[in-house]
Amino acid sequence: MTYRILLAFIIIYRIFLHNSAAQTINLSIVTLGDTEPKHLEIIKDSLQRFYNCKVINSYSLEISPELTSKSSKEDQLYNFEVLNAMAVNRRLNEFNKDTGGLIVGITDYALTIGERFSSTYYLIRGLANDSLGTATISTFRIKNESENDKDFVANLAKIAKHELGHLLGMPHCGSDSCLMVDGYRFNKMSRNYCKDCLNKIDPRHLIIE
Ligand SMILES: [Zn+2]
Ligand SMILES: [Zn+2]
Repeated sequence: MTYRILLAFIIIYRIFLHNSAAQTINLSIVTLGDTEPKHLEIIKDSLQRFYNCKVINSYSLEISPELTSKSSKEDQLYNFEVLNAMAVNRRLNEFNKDTGGLIVGITDYALTIGERFSSTYYLIRGLANDSLGTATISTFRIKNESENDKDFVANLAKIAKHELGHLLGMPHCGSDSCLMVDGYRFNKMSRNYCKDCLNKIDPRHLIIE
């Protein structure tokens, strides 16, 4: 009798585990300004193939002055509009109120970390704010440093997976080859997590083994 109760308990527990494994991360994607539809598709596709996530909403947001980096024009570091990733991430957080999931912003505009920056700050590929659950990805720099279309698609996919990794609690990784190496070692960024990172991340978030 006790054995049967134990068996029933194990079965119920396994069903519970299975159900929680099936839980997917809800994602909303927000395009910032005119964005090539192809870029949105690359990001959506690479995230949904790699993570146990689903894009449930797509929004578009106009570029307003508070989302741009003031220094870009005033200090004449750049002769084009540059978005302020921290301001964008804060703005994206407002979409969280509707959806309750994670928000990924995508733009073809150039991106910097903050509102004011010195020339030692370079354009960035993306920035995640894990406390807000929002991340912004810019194709601008990735496009400039990619050798061809195929390279660009691969690099954009890596950055999307990297930034979502941050939103799932993953820090930067010091390993020789990993999805989570920091932006300075972009040439070492691989499309997968290293062994150490695979031990850190909740396996339920991943589709890959
Ligand atoms: Zn990072
Ligand atoms: Zn790693």
